[in-house]
Amino acid sequence: MSRFLSRSLAALAPYTPGEQPQDRRYIKLNTNESPYPPAPGVLDALNRQEAADLRLYSDPEAKALKAALAAQYGLEPQNVYVGNGSDEALNFAFMAYATDGRGVAFADITYGFYPVFADLYRISPRIIPLDGAFRLRGEDYYGLNQTIVIANPNAPTGLALSRAEMEEIIKRNPDSVVVVDEAYVDFGGESCVPLIPKYDNLLVVQTYSKSRSMAGARLGYALGSETLIQDLETIKFSTNPYNVNRLTLRAGAAALAEQAYFDDNCRKIMDTRAYTKAALEDMGFTVLDSKANFLFAKTPALSGLEVYRRLKEKGILVRHFEKDPIRDFNRITIGTREQMDAMLQALNEILN
Ligand code: PMP
Repeated sequence: MSRFLSRSLAALAPYTPGEQPQDRRYIKLNTNESPYPPAPGVLDALNRQEAADLRLYSDPEAKALKAALAAQYGLEPQNVYVGNGSDEALNFAFMAYATDGRGVAFADITYGFYPVFADLYRISPRIIPLDGAFRLRGEDYYGLNQTIVIANPNAPTGLALSRAEMEEIIKRNPDSVVVVDEAYVDFGGESCVPLIPKYDNLLVVQTYSKSRSMAGARLGYALGSETLIQDLETIKFSTNPYNVNRLTLRAGAAALAEQAYFDDNCRKIMDTRAYTKAALEDMGFTVLDSKANFLFAKTPALSGLEVYRRLKEKGILVRHFEKDPIRDFNRITIGTREQMDAMLQALNEILN
């Protein structure tokens, strides 16, 4: 820390992203990226002309992409915010709705960025424990009278609430914003997007990073009532009006044009997830019932850290959180069938 850093930021403990090692080639199952390339139309959209046009600023209103996303979800462009990854949309939601003493509530086991945002804005969050089976209990979120942030499906467990369960939470907090982080919803979860016309306090956040194979493009979006979207736009135009670059705006719209490619990729991931879960269970692992592009699994034979370390030695990266009560687990991203077979083979060697 330099002597120049604001005192209010001195104690900040930043988010630790999953490893992105540049030293050797790993089978990378640690940051929930897609094993498949972006849709072919995305590659075509990123051509020489687009590269030449990088001399120009991007459209600060992101009109074309917002129109495409609105059409995709049966909403109006005024219901769409686009940002530099969904992390940015989440950051802005914390800034907009959790400061000024209003407060924020989220689960004890959930996306690790929420406590960092709370810390950044000097908010003491209300931390709500999951139940003994790592499930989020909807009732715990009724009538909280503060901003609520729920990852659904949750990370790193992969467990999901139904749309009906989510609606009950949204309905019972009419004077608070409910942020539903749907980063993983395309792998079998029930989206809250159809509830948007009914509830002006619902903000759904999604991303291109997982199901659309575009983590490196940094593109996320929020869907909600026009007034909520206006709030995020106000913050964006007060911080970084050109928050999404030209190439990413183009790529994002192109990706939406290829629904069949998208559906097929999600289907393959879900099939591979079922295959991998069954194989892990055969090996004695406990595996949570994931609706995401990862599995959360533990074995009685070895500690979670040991499993992580030995897999890494064998060139396979998974994500381990050295934190109670999940330290026995590892989060394993669903890759291709071949990658999963290599991971299972490595685990077999480690356990025998
Ligand atoms: N929400 C959840 C639950 C996540 O796991 C992630 C991925 N780290 C994000 C949001 C952020 O994704 P991105 O910024 O790449 O859109």
